[in-house]
Amino acid sequence: MLRLGEESGREVLLAVQMISCPSCGERLPIDDDTPLGTVIRHDGAEFVLTREFGAFALEPA
Ligand SMILES: [Zn+2]
Repeated sequence: MLRLGEESGREVLLAVQMISCPSCGERLPIDDDTPLGTVIRHDGAEFVLTREFGAFALEPA
């Protein structure tokens, strides 16, 4: 999946993965190059980005 982003002031297409929130199931777009361990804030809670079976996953922080 791609989304429109900005890089150095220019519009670029970025690869994103849609990840299901482990608590409410909402699908969250995560940029493909987001480093593992990044804290994602959502629903007033914090989740840590991990990788499982080759795909991103979220774990409660
Ligand atoms: Zn949620």
